[in-house]
Amino acid sequence: MIKGSCCCGAVQFELAEAPTMMWTCHCSRCRKVGASTLVFVKSEAFRIVKGRDKISTFEAEHPYKYDRCFCSVCGTALGEVLSNEDSFPLAANCIDEDLGLKNKFHEFVSEKPAWLDIGDKARQFDEHPAFES
Ligand SMILES: [Zn+2]
Ligand SMILES: [Zn+2]
Repeated sequence: MIKGSCCCGAVQFELAEAPTMMWTCHCSRCRKVGASTLVFVKSEAFRIVKGRDKISTFEAEHPYKYDRCFCSVCGTALGEVLSNEDSFPLAANCIDEDLGLKNKFHEFVSEKPAWLDIGDKARQFDEHPAFES
């Protein structure tokens, strides 16, 4: 079982199955909520162990379609952990163990701030890549 949590520990979750993909989004929205590197997880493999009542949601407004969840105690961005979809993005920063995964690509590099230099060799896309809609 892979474990994860927010900064203060109020929210804890576990994954029965390792995520298969990790990527980094440089859009201003991901950057500001503090969840730029994400992993894709299956909802059936994800379970909130503690603190579901501590999770707040920042609802998406058009043109954005994804709600952002965060710990209401410490503010840690969690990804879309209350999603009703079959799979959803989870903030990689919250996972407490090494996944043996590396960043696969960077998206919305066009919105990346000038002060950030990308330090890996993963593919870069100015917007959302066509292969992952
Ligand atoms: Zn917290
Ligand atoms: Zn983004």
